[in-house]
Amino acid sequence: MLGKKVKSRIFFLVFSLVLFASIIFVILRSLEENVVYFLSPTEIYDNEKISFSQLFNILMTVSLSDRISRLQTSKTIEISDLARNLLSEGRNVISLSQGEPDFETPDHIKEAGINAIKEGFTRYSNVDGMPLLKKAICKKFLNENNLKYEVSEISVGNGCKQIIFNALMSIINPGDEVIIPAPYWGSYKEMVNFAEGIPKIVNCSFSDDFKLTAKTLESAINESTRCLIINNPTNPSGSVYSLEELKSISDILIKHPKILIITDDIYEYLIYSKNKFHTIAETNVNIKMRTLTCNGMSKGFCMTGWRLGYAGGPKHLIDAMSKLQSQSTSNASTISQYAALEALNAKRDFINEQKKSYIKRRNLTVSFLNKIDGITCNNPEGTFYVFPSCDGLYGKKTPDGKILQNDIDVCKYILETAEVTLVPGTAFGMINFFRICYAIDEKILLEALKRILTVINKLK
Ligand code: PLP
Repeated sequence: MLGKKVKSRIFFLVFSLVLFASIIFVILRSLEENVVYFLSPTEIYDNEKISFSQLFNILMTVSLSDRISRLQTSKTIEISDLARNLLSEGRNVISLSQGEPDFETPDHIKEAGINAIKEGFTRYSNVDGMPLLKKAICKKFLNENNLKYEVSEISVGNGCKQIIFNALMSIINPGDEVIIPAPYWGSYKEMVNFAEGIPKIVNCSFSDDFKLTAKTLESAINESTRCLIINNPTNPSGSVYSLEELKSISDILIKHPKILIITDDIYEYLIYSKNKFHTIAETNVNIKMRTLTCNGMSKGFCMTGWRLGYAGGPKHLIDAMSKLQSQSTSNASTISQYAALEALNAKRDFINEQKKSYIKRRNLTVSFLNKIDGITCNNPEGTFYVFPSCDGLYGKKTPDGKILQNDIDVCKYILETAEVTLVPGTAFGMINFFRICYAIDEKILLEALKRILTVINKLK
């Protein structure tokens, strides 16, 4: 007979072995997701053929950097992908979560791209843009925004997104704070994190039309503040800053000469009130000298897939951004640059036609939503988004007994029951709201709104 001591030792040994094996198993299972990214589709299907030691070796070599692990994927892209997947499964999903115009790129712009290919403009260009295009951008800034930039103060990249990324990577040191008014476009925060900066989120209230005020800005500034990102017109709220509002912000910034300003004016042309568009660099020469005015072809010119963005700003920063781009993507597509050249040089009458259609759809969306009990929506002056509140639905019970507790619950319930995709405000740093993109066929938009109403009426 084994003694009590020996028995307990054997028990302890067996227990430790089982525990160790379970830990290894859990680690391998949790890392399996990463491995799949590195296997081709055939390997994924055949991956039972991969031996344990091969799997272990792959895991060791392809572990991801801390930098990339910190980065979150874009919530709006995730939700739009989900809608596409559901559609491909045959579900009758209506996506109100995408962020792009539903109009085709105008023909004269498409033709300029086609001609560029035919004429052989298919090679590399200058890293941060062809001088010809940069000149057209200078002309645009001068004529439309009253901003005088030299060609050397212009940067052209693969979309406004890359321009902002290049800028943040060029100016942020670890620990620098970047003020981001919320609700915000999700990429700003992720880019700041990626650059090892600290996003300083400043909440802008519904009653201020979700706009940054001089007072809130001033209270957010401290010794570590390096940059302010301002987005006008704003995604997701659709708010538009007036010249007076921009002036009051720049009055504060004048007192803080170390702060750089990045303004993202990508929705410049999508303003529906009589108010003219203004950008912060216009307000003061001193402010212009430390502002990067970012813009692009995606929204107003309906060129999301062409990937073309640009900015005007201090040469020192433009050069740094060019250096970064030279070691990452190099130039934006030369073909897209020729198309953008045509877009900027030609008349833009088509934008007015599109605006009429956006206004109609915005009015439809706002008036419909405001009739739904529990939802309140303001009437945004710009973009193609509305950002209604949904906290009036909290505490209500779904037909299968769940209580809605936040914006994510509301959007999930609407997706599962009405098959309409929306983006919860959480994705924009502001809970209790959700974003609807109304750049979709009017009949389909109405159908989506009716579906939302039907399922909300089922709440108890
Ligand atoms: N900035 C804002 C506020 C946006 O909403 C988007 C796209 O949704 C972008 C930038 C990206 O623009 P681009 O397509 O030029 O990269």
